Amino acid sequence: MSNTDLRQTAHRGGTEPVRTGRRRATRTETGRISALRPVPSGKPPLDEYYNSLFTAFGPQHWWPGKSPFEVIVGAILTQNTSWINAESAISNLRREGLLSPTAIEQVPLRRLQSLIRASGYFRQKAHKLKAFCRFLRAEFGGSLKRMFEAPTMMLREELLGVFGIGPETADSILLYAGDHAVFVVDAYTTRLLSRHGWSHEKEKYDDVRWMFERQFPGNAKRFNEFHALIVNTGKTFCRTRDPLCGECPLGRYLEEGR
Ligand code: SF4
Repeated sequence: MSNTDLRQTAHRGGTEPVRTGRRRATRTETGRISALRPVPSGKPPLDEYYNSLFTAFGPQHWWPGKSPFEVIVGAILTQNTSWINAESAISNLRREGLLSPTAIEQVPLRRLQSLIRASGYFRQKAHKLKAFCRFLRAEFGGSLKRMFEAPTMMLREELLGVFGIGPETADSILLYAGDHAVFVVDAYTTRLLSRHGWSHEKEKYDDVRWMFERQFPGNAKRFNEFHALIVNTGKTFCRTRDPLCGECPLGRYLEEGR
């Protein structure tokens, strides 16, 4: 089946092609633009995307944590759930005076589970929090400062070895708690790039990460803001169904085929 066939198969009624060539979008009956399967090639104009999003949304002030440890707890608790749910669990931990590595290690597992119930998958997440705190104590004497002094890629590898910490969580910890220059890739990022024709939805995590890191090497400030802007874009416009491309700050790039 050709790419055109695939696009037509993906097309669900009431659309007309608005562009042909390497990438194609369709406009729905409601006037929205619906991005169909693109053909990846070249290098995404990330600098332009960033400028457009920053102009539209302004600074995002991420991550909303009061301390590096709270950011780490948040990065684990927000896995597979909304930030609101994670925040509610963090508030419980704060109220009980448990937002420290020692306190998390010492609190009985059942109590921890009950306090973070709002974040979903609370049994697993309680184990994950404890696993991170054990790792921190065993490898860095419980000191986040010491941990974040480690070279970025070495620490990243170590974090990926901790139970419950995958690439997105590891990079969130490195960037938002430790100010290390890594880019955090999430579902919003891959969806956006895929819809603009720069990657596939199932592109490998590290390949997408590298697209950003090679364009802004060592720029933690840019990675911090860019990821937050992409999340905002994903929530506001680039939804799973019916993306609001006509209203999105990146809509014109789709129209231009990039
Ligand atoms: S980022 Fe904006 S313009 Fe691009 S596909 Fe998503 S909603 Fe459409």
